Amino acid sequence: MRPSIIQKTPAGLRVQPNLADYHADRARFSWAAARADLPTLPDGGLNLADCAVTSHARGPNRDRVAFRFLAGQTSDELTYGDLDLQTNRFANVLAELGVGREDVVFVLAGRIRELYLAVLGSLKNGTPVSPLFSAFGPDPIATRLNRGSGTVLVTTTSLYLKKVAKIRDRVPSLRHVLVVPDEPGEPLPPGTEDLARLLEAASDLFTTVATQPEDLALLHFTSGTTGAPKGAMHVHEAVVTHWVTGRDALDLHPDDVFWCTADPGWVTGTSYGIIAPLLHGVTSIVDEAEFDAERWYRILSEQHVTVWYTAPTAVRMLMKAGPALAAAWPRPALRFVASVGEPLNPEAVWWGQEVLGLPIHDNWWQTETGGIMIANTPAFDIKPGSMGRPLPGVDAAIVARGDAGLELLGDDTEGELVLRSGWPAMFRGYLNDPDRYARCFSGEWYLTGDLALRDADGYYWFVGRADDVIKSAGHLIGPFEVESVLMEHPAVAEAGVVGKPDEMVGELVKAFVSLKQGYTPSDELRQEILGHARRRLGAAVAPKEIAFLNTLPRTRSGKIMRRLLRARELGLPEGDTSTLEGGA
Ligand code: ATP
Ligand code: MG
Repeated sequence: MRPSIIQKTPAGLRVQPNLADYHADRARFSWAAARADLPTLPDGGLNLADCAVTSHARGPNRDRVAFRFLAGQTSDELTYGDLDLQTNRFANVLAELGVGREDVVFVLAGRIRELYLAVLGSLKNGTPVSPLFSAFGPDPIATRLNRGSGTVLVTTTSLYLKKVAKIRDRVPSLRHVLVVPDEPGEPLPPGTEDLARLLEAASDLFTTVATQPEDLALLHFTSGTTGAPKGAMHVHEAVVTHWVTGRDALDLHPDDVFWCTADPGWVTGTSYGIIAPLLHGVTSIVDEAEFDAERWYRILSEQHVTVWYTAPTAVRMLMKAGPALAAAWPRPALRFVASVGEPLNPEAVWWGQEVLGLPIHDNWWQTETGGIMIANTPAFDIKPGSMGRPLPGVDAAIVARGDAGLELLGDDTEGELVLRSGWPAMFRGYLNDPDRYARCFSGEWYLTGDLALRDADGYYWFVGRADDVIKSAGHLIGPFEVESVLMEHPAVAEAGVVGKPDEMVGELVKAFVSLKQGYTPSDELRQEILGHARRRLGAAVAPKEIAFLNTLPRTRSGKIMRRLLRARELGLPEGDTSTLEGGA
């Protein structure tokens, strides 16, 4: 048996962690003091892009590399100074087109330079912006553009021709489509404007609009794991959370080379793929390519990545690829690894420790929270399987919803995870759905919809989404616990567990598993995995049925879609599949 704790790395081994003493730093913390670390604009103005870009371009970080874009075998860099000038150009392009604070810019592109210029340039112009994942099909694009009343779309020629041209008529709010040619000299599709030409013609001087802290800045759609994606609205004030969490949860230091593997189409890829690293003046790696185990190890090694922020699905794929590949690419610079998006099985935290030589720091947050809320930080020991502790400035609790309101629950009791509202990056609404937004709050608490428990040391443990919890013979079973045990079996690469209606027990536990390379499905293997689960979990909680799948259905952001496993098992309608990986 492995120990239940991975001790924190002795402070000062590589760098002194930003968060040194969890309890003391939490007690000292105030959002107002954190806000005072950031630059302001006239009349109490605050602007995300001013804090992230302009303030560095005016200071000693001017010549430091802000982004290194990798594409195929080539790379291309932008310093903070260049980024400032180029985002000024983009802001001028918008201003000259008459695009202002009442408009909304959408960006539909791969992880190319223009995406980053468009997001930051829009913010400078005071125009709210929404990056969309480029793999979306035409319908999900049209739905999102309409939900956000998009007036400008920045995209590439090929994405426009393949996906947008056919739905353009269905988006009456869209006034301008600015395209980046895939190849120089490509003909411009009718009804579009040439972004390269507009940028070239625009001035590189721009005075950032003095947005107010409560002005709308970013629209992000949720992952659609539990149902149709919701549009979360975020304001410029969110920058304070990005700043603090980049410091305390990701431990960003000025000399870091940081790689956030998430696409800006998901909130992680914007809060931590764009904003937080810029606030800290570090160099970010942006890779245009999709996941490939060898390529990723090569990037970690050749780019001298020091801090790496990734997702459980990627970790599971690297685990699947085997330890030899990890050993082939030395990573002496890497010092901190963090993960978000789904529960990180203890097995994966240990894999980090044993194969990467560094444990993986799981952290928890949502599109709605705008930034990391609960995290394993360098300031305390890791309990593998736990999401860590609430960061400074974040008050979390576990509750039961009752007729008389919320009942606060004590330690070691499962209930709903809630957060005391009022942190700067909290969403300010769901697009076109004020009722749903209102239902997310009870008094001072924001209700997350996730079930968890807190132990006596103040660590939070994810149990499952309220929608995914299985009720079997009087027990409430969180899929995560069962999946983590299945993953301990050497043959299992991934597991998704759902409840299947059953007359006797209410719901029986059914597991879907995919196997690691070198294993093939058989009845014998099924019995062996069932036996392992029964020994570890007991008969009441262990799966009754196991089905083998080549891969599990996942969102494009990499989350297992249990609702789809369940719908398919029961022959029910699949519901919204706009975010399904490999879907339209
Ligand atoms: P939708 O709300 O559309 O169903 P989603 O909840 O997956 O999709 P996101 O906002 O991208 O959309 O994801 C947030 C959710 O992801 C959390 O509420 C939680 O269920 C899960 N999650 C994120 N990080 C973790 C983590 N470290 N451990 C467990 N679950 C996590
Ligand atoms: Mg959600």
